[in-house]
Amino acid sequence: MKDSSKYKFGTKAIHAGQEPDPTTGAIMTPIYQTSTYVQEAPGKNKGYGYARGKNPTRVALENCIAALEGGKHGICFSSGMGSTDAVIKLLRPGDEVITGDDLYGGSYRMFTKIFEPFGIKFHFINMLDAANIEKYVNEKTKLIWLETPTNPTMQIIDIEACAKIAKKNNLILCVDNTFASPYLQNPLALGADIVMHSVTKYLGGHSDVVMGALVMNDDKLHEQLYFILNSCGANPGPMDSFLVLRGIKTLHIRMERHCSNGKKIAEFLKTHPKIDKLYWPGFTDHPNHAIAKKQMKDFGGMISFTIKNASLEDTFKLASSFKVFSLAESLGGVESLINHPATMTHASIPKAEREKSGVVDSLLRLSVGIEDIEDLLADLKQALG
Ligand SMILES: *Cc1c(COP(=O)(O)O)cnc(C)c1O
Repeated sequence: MKDSSKYKFGTKAIHAGQEPDPTTGAIMTPIYQTSTYVQEAPGKNKGYGYARGKNPTRVALENCIAALEGGKHGICFSSGMGSTDAVIKLLRPGDEVITGDDLYGGSYRMFTKIFEPFGIKFHFINMLDAANIEKYVNEKTKLIWLETPTNPTMQIIDIEACAKIAKKNNLILCVDNTFASPYLQNPLALGADIVMHSVTKYLGGHSDVVMGALVMNDDKLHEQLYFILNSCGANPGPMDSFLVLRGIKTLHIRMERHCSNGKKIAEFLKTHPKIDKLYWPGFTDHPNHAIAKKQMKDFGGMISFTIKNASLEDTFKLASSFKVFSLAESLGGVESLINHPATMTHASIPKAEREKSGVVDSLLRLSVGIEDIEDLLADLKQALG
């Protein structure tokens, strides 16, 4: 599609970055299952030299994801963590990063276990009040890494307020937009420099691919991050790129259903006598509801809750008693999942650390899928009963 920027989201999801195959007219982007490309003369090629650097199926996907985020450039990686790794490799020993205290467990693990030993310092702080960030800015600070909504306690961080602080202090702001997906939130428009996605989740949407992506407007950042991709090699294959292109074609429809199912389940849990704390940004009494309303189009299908007076054993028992929800890590697929963060997704965070941010033993997290709402509600009812 030529100049997809003038079209709306659903049209972009289906067409952006993609053209009918010029040799056959095939409407779907072919899976270019090749590692290399024949050259006419040394260095004279059709823009493709070796497939670690570039693959046409991947390029179509990169352009599609960039269009959905309203960005100029997209780069896909072999996983969400691969894309995070590339962003941190923009830094040098001695540099400092300011990030949140309620991060995806794998990000926390990478920052503390992989990059701190290389001499990069991470400040894990409460970002709910953006002004708090400035207390940690010094001449070594290079990057603000934020995630919103946070995982699993659904804090909402004000992207625009953080972007102002980043601009003022000449820092790069990278937003992990995995939980919202580009359908609900576009951080570049709010002043972020880089958007990161675990494509594995809502973008792929069918729990059949692991992939990551970065989107940015700045040409120099794009050049640096692409150089890291090509040098370090965390590139996804063409088959996975094809599957994600296909998944994205229904992103807007899936997200509508994730949101409407999520809302009904959140409302059901709110009045349930066994539920203690309930985390979902769509409630008007959620502490950051106003910011969620300002920066998100809707509130999504991610919901966390704690069970009243439940031991670890009680919680395990409950988590294993669902019939439609499956007990599994990950999120954002068409099927509903339930997860026990303390022992599953967030097990790599020390107990004292995670409990500070609400990841207690009685906390469960739902990724509400797009099944029929009556079946999901009935499943919750029987499991809680
Ligand atoms: C899953 C996830 C990641 C990591 O992505 P992978 O594709 O699993 O490597 C990063 N951030 C968030 C918020 C996630 O949910």
